[in-house]
Amino acid sequence: MKYIALVLASFFCLTTVLAQQNNSFDQAKNLHLTLQKSSSTNDFISELIDMDIHPNVSFFTAAVFVDAPFSGNLQYQINGAEWQSLERYHEATRTDRAIFELIFLPNESITIKFKSDQNIDAGLSVRSLTLASTKLLNDPIAQLQEDCNCTQPEFCGRNCWCPTGDCPTDATPVATAPTHIIVHHSASASMSNDFPAVVRSYWDFHVNVNGWDDIGYNWLIDGEGVIYEGRGSGTQGAHFSCMNNQTTGICMIGNFENSTPTQAAITSLENLIAWEACDKTIVPGGSSNHITSGSLLNHISGHRDGNDLPSSCTNTVCPGANLYPLLQGIRERVTDKACLNDLVDVEDIEQPNFQIFPNPSYGYFQLSGDLNQIAALNIYSQTGQQIAFKFNQNGSLALRKSGLYFLKIMQKNGAAKIHKLIVQPAP
Ligand SMILES: [Zn+2]
Repeated sequence: MKYIALVLASFFCLTTVLAQQNNSFDQAKNLHLTLQKSSSTNDFISELIDMDIHPNVSFFTAAVFVDAPFSGNLQYQINGAEWQSLERYHEATRTDRAIFELIFLPNESITIKFKSDQNIDAGLSVRSLTLASTKLLNDPIAQLQEDCNCTQPEFCGRNCWCPTGDCPTDATPVATAPTHIIVHHSASASMSNDFPAVVRSYWDFHVNVNGWDDIGYNWLIDGEGVIYEGRGSGTQGAHFSCMNNQTTGICMIGNFENSTPTQAAITSLENLIAWEACDKTIVPGGSSNHITSGSLLNHISGHRDGNDLPSSCTNTVCPGANLYPLLQGIRERVTDKACLNDLVDVEDIEQPNFQIFPNPSYGYFQLSGDLNQIAALNIYSQTGQQIAFKFNQNGSLALRKSGLYFLKIMQKNGAAKIHKLIVQPAP
């Protein structure tokens, strides 16, 4: 069959569905393409995919992947125009599937085909989505007030970006207490006529192509500065190169390798980081050991800052050449926010140091210093799980099992610092 229609429903059917289901017609279709050797070049070329126009569709997406080891290069061609390179998906963590960046296609009569510089025995898989317009939906943007000096900025919750309820949350979410905020870009769709539909398309890509339990990010921000709740606050996401525990991931929607974030998006990012920092006691200009990676990391980092860490499973330019250099200014402006005045970096204040000895030990540690300044103590395992322990008024604490632990000392003046504890096996 020479032509495969991505959108099979006729105009009549779609308008009927619209009237009956109030826009609940994001349509997914899975295609499997075989590539044919070109008669004139060394390339392997797919059949032409033909998409149908429809006025109530905001745009199409195509997620392309190969279910086999594949080291070749792919290109795609829209409407017979220039071939464009298709990059590997920058957040991909699967080893059994070569996944490429999501392609966004405008809603107009369109054809697309693919070309590879290598033969692909397994064939090329394409999951295409027809994104229904979200414009007619008027779900309110939620606003939460938390017990924190910084107000949580308004956001578009899941009911807002996925009003049909077809984008469920992770059925078994893992709670985490973030110590680090990781900034990303989505590497696609800097501009859109329907950003809620863009968020839905990421949800589908992350769940149905990457195999994650939910959209990867905790939060997303579009070019107009609208904040979208992904996994939300205090839930472990899938975004930081297999080191997700104790992080929260904020994705700036757009490709900031080749475009620049808008001022509206940066302002929303700073407001969101300020609230997260306030709520989670994260000093925005500071750095500390990130427990999961066991490495020193700025509290506000870009995804690429994880590249060289020993536990990293990816290598990425995320959040892009035009966003990454803005992070230092973002740290400084967030630090200057009046609502974070009580949160002081441990490095900046006069304070009695806490000493911990012996360290390593066989399970008993003695803290010395001005113990009256301690507001709270938490101990985490290497995988970020909070650990129960015994702490006595004289500053001694006990841990039962051998291993590497992280002790977070939060002080009454707002400072917080993480110390490594090593418990040796009993002799
Ligand atoms: Zn990223």
